[in-house]
Amino acid sequence: MVTDTLRHFIDGEFTGSAKDFPKLSPVTGEMLCRVAEAGESDVDDAVAAARQALRGPWARTTELERAAVLRRVADEAERRFDDLVAAEVADTGKPVDQARTLDVPRAAANFRAFADIVSAAAGESFLTGTAGGGRALNYAVRKPVGVVAVIVPWNLPLLLLTWKVAPALACGDTVVVKPSEETPSSAAVLAEIVRDAGLPPGVFNLVHGFGPDSAGEYLVRHPGVDAITFTGESATGATIGRSAADGVKAVSFELGGKNAGIVFADADLDAAVAGTVRSAFTNGGQVCLCTERLYVQRPVFEEFTERLAARAREAVFGWPTDPGLTTMPLISRDHREKVLGYYRLARDEGAEVHVGGDHPVFGDARDGGAYVRPTVLTGLGEHTRTNREEIFGPVCHVAPFDDEDEAYALANDSDYGLAAAVWTRDVGRAHRAGSALDVGLVWVNTWFLRDLRSPFGGTKASGIGREGGLRSLDFYTETTNVCVDLG
Ligand code: NAD
Repeated sequence: MVTDTLRHFIDGEFTGSAKDFPKLSPVTGEMLCRVAEAGESDVDDAVAAARQALRGPWARTTELERAAVLRRVADEAERRFDDLVAAEVADTGKPVDQARTLDVPRAAANFRAFADIVSAAAGESFLTGTAGGGRALNYAVRKPVGVVAVIVPWNLPLLLLTWKVAPALACGDTVVVKPSEETPSSAAVLAEIVRDAGLPPGVFNLVHGFGPDSAGEYLVRHPGVDAITFTGESATGATIGRSAADGVKAVSFELGGKNAGIVFADADLDAAVAGTVRSAFTNGGQVCLCTERLYVQRPVFEEFTERLAARAREAVFGWPTDPGLTTMPLISRDHREKVLGYYRLARDEGAEVHVGGDHPVFGDARDGGAYVRPTVLTGLGEHTRTNREEIFGPVCHVAPFDDEDEAYALANDSDYGLAAAVWTRDVGRAHRAGSALDVGLVWVNTWFLRDLRSPFGGTKASGIGREGGLRSLDFYTETTNVCVDLG
């Protein structure tokens, strides 16, 4: 259970720290709990426990045995479903319905998927000719990469944490995880879950704290860490990358986005409007994959913009327990100020605000919360800050285009390259978009549909590397090629 002061989980035990910090509710602004803040010695202890566990019984497990452990973790996560939902909703303010249908089921699914993937991933061997006309047998042995630092953000805390912990454990690694300072609670429940599922002490360690000059930075710089898997802002990724380079550590980076949607005039417009409402406003627009730039073919541009704005105008606010919500607060008052700053900047940069652009007034306890209105803009130049920087809120700028090449050129004119959503009935164009768009994921006539076997990641400032399916196994293992002369 979530306790009043959330503690670290190191070597199988919950431990505190000399310092702690408050975690505030995004819904009301009131304090939810206090959280232990790791110092360097806590991080040292966590990394030492993880290194020690690499030499313990965990090191002697086979892939199938670890797959069985992952399935037990998934079962235990389902048994603790309500605790995980409560933790996730308290920290983020997201609708209970969303946590119950997306965030928490996906955590269990992450463990099951990587249990299946590692079970199916048999290696390969082949014969090589030798100088004397004989044969040598070649094969590759997969080995754990070692101690993995897992650093994740606050927007989908449990989903993103388990997306990385599951494959790391499947591969025989040990982990030290640092959740965001904004969302410590579900990671604390996960620590209980892995303990109760029988994971040996030291295999999963959790430290709480901040990034710079705190737990995140200590972990990244620690010489006992072999690999770093990080999800968060592109600027943070660049900072972590510099430290990782000093220690010659493997990195996997899932970073920011400024994702484009493209609506062609031949699209099923009902589906495109509904899909764009989801892609722009889900989770308060706080998904790295959210559409913040939308390009609509000129014949349907005005109709589409009006329909999108009308849907945004119908936004349903409420308490997280209310049914039928289409909104949620941003993660914090600080983030709300940042998003409201972009709303003001957009006006200064010449945007027409069709709906939103401000924060709602409730006249009750939620006035202390971090709410903003879903916002639809038009009229911004391509090179304005509002149209180039990741806002990470419920805001979508809509601009017209004339032909297919122009749409791809506009979409690709970004420092980021994470995802795009294309709406068309033309099959050939659907496939052309897949090749033409310089992003890691292209959805056609859908958004956020994920098969965990498929590669996930971004181009340009949106990331380094891909995770998902066998690509995760490649990151979380080292391989040794063995070549035996059969003489
Ligand atoms: P952030 O970069 O501020 O923080 C992410 C994590 O890194 C937190 O745990 C934080 O404490 C830690 N951190 C910060 N500075 C650090 C440092 N110097 N050293 C080590 N750790 C450090 O990001 P955020 O605001 O929490 O999350 C929002 C960002 O995450 C957005 O940019 C969003 O696009 C991105 N994101 C990307 C994906 C993806 O899959 N590509 C998924 C979700 C979120």
